[in-house]
Amino acid sequence: MSDSNQNITQKDQPDIFKIGVISGKGGVGKTTVSGSLAVLFKEHANKIIAADCDVDAPNLGLLFKGGKIINNFKVKTTEKAKFLPDLCIQCKRCVEEQFCNFSALGWNDDEDLPIVDDIACEGCGACRELCPQQAFEIIQVDSGLITHETSPAGFPLVWGETKLGATTSGKLVTEIKKYVDSIVDANERAIVLIDGPPGIGCPVVATVSDLDYTIIVIEPTSTALHDADRAIGVLKQLNINHGIVINKSDAWKRGYEEILHYADENNIKIIGEIPMDNKVPNATVKGQTVYEYDSSCQASKSLAKIYSYLLEKVVPKSFQ
Ligand code: SF4
Ligand code: SF4
Repeated sequence: MSDSNQNITQKDQPDIFKIGVISGKGGVGKTTVSGSLAVLFKEHANKIIAADCDVDAPNLGLLFKGGKIINNFKVKTTEKAKFLPDLCIQCKRCVEEQFCNFSALGWNDDEDLPIVDDIACEGCGACRELCPQQAFEIIQVDSGLITHETSPAGFPLVWGETKLGATTSGKLVTEIKKYVDSIVDANERAIVLIDGPPGIGCPVVATVSDLDYTIIVIEPTSTALHDADRAIGVLKQLNINHGIVINKSDAWKRGYEEILHYADENNIKIIGEIPMDNKVPNATVKGQTVYEYDSSCQASKSLAKIYSYLLEKVVPKSFQ
């Protein structure tokens, strides 16, 4: 089996090397892997920045509590309809003719005027186009928050969180990545380690689109492998180099063997196997990465091996 890393494209003048950690489904140990790898990179490599692009459920910060906030700002990447009552002639066509395909338009009987459900509105603009008075406008609203802090482990941690009802998680991911790029000085070289979202939707595509390497974390269950296969399909389409980490590798023998078979058939390198280890949940409860909690436990040793593999085979020497 060939090593999928051998085709890594070297940039002419690299200044940022981006590694992502994704999974087809949530809850399979993605943040366990990215958190400990960030600590290992901090200990042994050049500048490391950790970013959490799992904007619908950012958890990486939970492993690095107590950091110093450097920057914190709202992002407007979502559009919503705003009703303009002064223009309305109360013809009621917007509700009777069902202008809105997203059930976001209703009628306020008390005021005898239309009402927009901000959560349901997708900002498509149909109401503005169809209203004879153009009594709606499309405005940009807060869609999330980006926070930049210095983690207690000593590296910058940037994470974003989608606001309830925002429909543009992918755009928020793009904004996080742009911000991360902006905090690397022109003459610096940095490794950016991104904890990505699960699934195969827009946030995942936005996360992996320009990565140099992606780790797919899979637990040995049929559903996890099925979902990971879909995520790997996205990576293949985007031509992103990748390798598999099997988390809880000894949890179910048949599922484990299915992953080995899948990796072999698809010519994907298994870059690490993390056995079940109760130090992992214990560390999470304490708000720490497992590597910080106990660097000599079985899970930490496996993570250290994955880190060594990345240094040896994936990350260019100029970043180490
Ligand atoms: S269609 Fe336009 S003018 Fe008529 S009730 Fe709705 S918002 Fe008002
Ligand atoms: S912008 Fe589109 S989704 Fe929002 S209320 Fe108007 S028609 Fe509905």
